[in-house]
Amino acid sequence: MADQIKVLPEKLANMIAAGEVIERPASVVKELVENAIDAGGERISVEIKSGGKQHMRVVDDGGGMSREDAVLAFERHATSKIAGEDDLYRIGTFGFRGEALASIASVARVDLTTNTQGEAAGTRVRIDGGSVPKVTDAGRATGTTVAVSQLFFNVPARRKFLRTTATETRHVVSVVSSIAMAYPGIAFTLTVDGRDTLSLPAVSNTYTRAQAVMGNTLMNQMIPVTFDDDFVKIHGFISRPDAARVSRTHQHLYINLRPVSSRALNRAVFEGYGSILPRDRYPVSIIFLNVDLDQVDVNVHPAKREIRFSDESMIYERLLRAVRLALQNSDVVPVFETDTPDISGLAPAEAPGGVHAAGQEPAMARRTQIDLFGPARGIDGDALGEWTYTPADAARGAHDEGGQGTVREHSDAEMVSLWQLHNAYILAQVKGGFMLIDQHAAHERVLFEQALRTMDHESAPSRQLLFPVTLDLMVPQIALVREHFDHFARLGFNVKLFGEQTVVVDAVPCMTSSQEVDTLFHRMIENLQETPEKNLTKEERIALTFSGHAGIRKGDPLSQQEMNGLVNDLFATEMPYVTPRGRPTVVRMPLEEIERRFNRPP
Ligand code: ADP
Ligand code: MG
Repeated sequence: MADQIKVLPEKLANMIAAGEVIERPASVVKELVENAIDAGGERISVEIKSGGKQHMRVVDDGGGMSREDAVLAFERHATSKIAGEDDLYRIGTFGFRGEALASIASVARVDLTTNTQGEAAGTRVRIDGGSVPKVTDAGRATGTTVAVSQLFFNVPARRKFLRTTATETRHVVSVVSSIAMAYPGIAFTLTVDGRDTLSLPAVSNTYTRAQAVMGNTLMNQMIPVTFDDDFVKIHGFISRPDAARVSRTHQHLYINLRPVSSRALNRAVFEGYGSILPRDRYPVSIIFLNVDLDQVDVNVHPAKREIRFSDESMIYERLLRAVRLALQNSDVVPVFETDTPDISGLAPAEAPGGVHAAGQEPAMARRTQIDLFGPARGIDGDALGEWTYTPADAARGAHDEGGQGTVREHSDAEMVSLWQLHNAYILAQVKGGFMLIDQHAAHERVLFEQALRTMDHESAPSRQLLFPVTLDLMVPQIALVREHFDHFARLGFNVKLFGEQTVVVDAVPCMTSSQEVDTLFHRMIENLQETPEKNLTKEERIALTFSGHAGIRKGDPLSQQEMNGLVNDLFATEMPYVTPRGRPTVVRMPLEEIERRFNRPP
């Protein structure tokens, strides 16, 4: 056969490369914005028309290019960012492949103007679909403007794949937002068909930038993550479990300030929540990872969305740990919504008239520390569904203040006394406000962790039933009992199987509060049946179903001692503020909020 192999002409090679790098308008915007950042731009503006299909323009005030560079920039593999092979393993810039401009120019009409410090005249370079560049003078301050129009005008096949203007616009907005999040010090604007869509002034920190990009409401539901060791530095924000979303698309990940996608690392964030996320919910997260440049390989994919780590499991483990720590250290509790986003101004801090304010401080502090109402009264039957607090108690408390009042130092964790409301909630006065504890939710958390610990041990403490309970179950349910037999035993259930459908329970775990063992067991089995929980171990599934049904319920009256026991147990758990299924256990009401509601001046 005659020789068949030919080296492709440059223009065709560029078009093929463009197929990998340039998929849609948003890919062009991404490459141009990255170039602007690499060039040191401090103000970057992006304009698009018709989703970028018709026109896109990126303007920066970075270093610009000399005339020679401006022409060379359109050659494939022309880059100022790496020089030798060694550099390839230490990529500190967005670009390095030197193919973005060449690719873009091969499939669109490009008009670039640039000027660099010290040049008399700026340069304008125009290229239409890989044609020979037309170079002219152009007046321009230092910086670069790249205008790209009629994307894929010479590649009808690709043009067909472009989506509606709305969809393409959405992609562009998302690209710009995601880059902007990592560079709070750079001012970004995005104009869509003449309308200002994003306007992000330079700010000093990521949180403020994230607020501008993601919105205050969401950011108020986020908690900070930080982690730092020799190998990796992590910072960012993750959502409280109750703010989790139904889709996985709200996880933003950055490696050395480059937005990337990594299933594995998104998974690490997800796993970090353990079992506290509601079922089928995914966290919102903004995570910045900083690792040594030689620990990552960004040269995996032309669009550089994917990265490879020299040791991914190490990063995975650190990230998971960081998320777990963040959740443990924060009050994962929704504080009552306030209309005024900033309540710090209402705090009784540095009031004018220092002496007076200073004199008031201790009195105020003392009032909150006094056991104002005395110990809660026993729960008498007819107090059911009522506040157990009465004015008489308050009067007694006021009396105490003058006399032998029980003034005690206490922190959030040690509470003075507790009141049960509606046989469902426990009211506790804490430093700076009060909290309401959902007794059922709290006990669920306590039992969940106890159950997990119990199953870790050989023999579980169990309580023999005076009257063993016989249950008739359906065949699939019996199968479930068989499947989890060992785990039931380790938890403290003594279960015997009789025949095809009958189960006898003659001992239950000591920690069980529920009196109706048959209901408890039935519910657990039903629950196991309907929760094919992914990502859960058998232990976790059993603990989850047990804790959901075996504990104190709404409507159960509690003695002062029981309440104290419960509250102490709750705050001794690893995650006191949420149930294993991610519902809050506690709602806090800060004093400032109460004062605000009474229209009290601060
Ligand atoms: P890469 O970014 O991978 O180097 P590009 O094709 O995106 O490849 O850009 C080629 C070169 O053009 C860059 O290395 C840079 O020197 C120059 N360049 C591109 N955009 C700009 C800009 N906005 N300001 C200054 N120089 C730029
Ligand atoms: Mg580039």
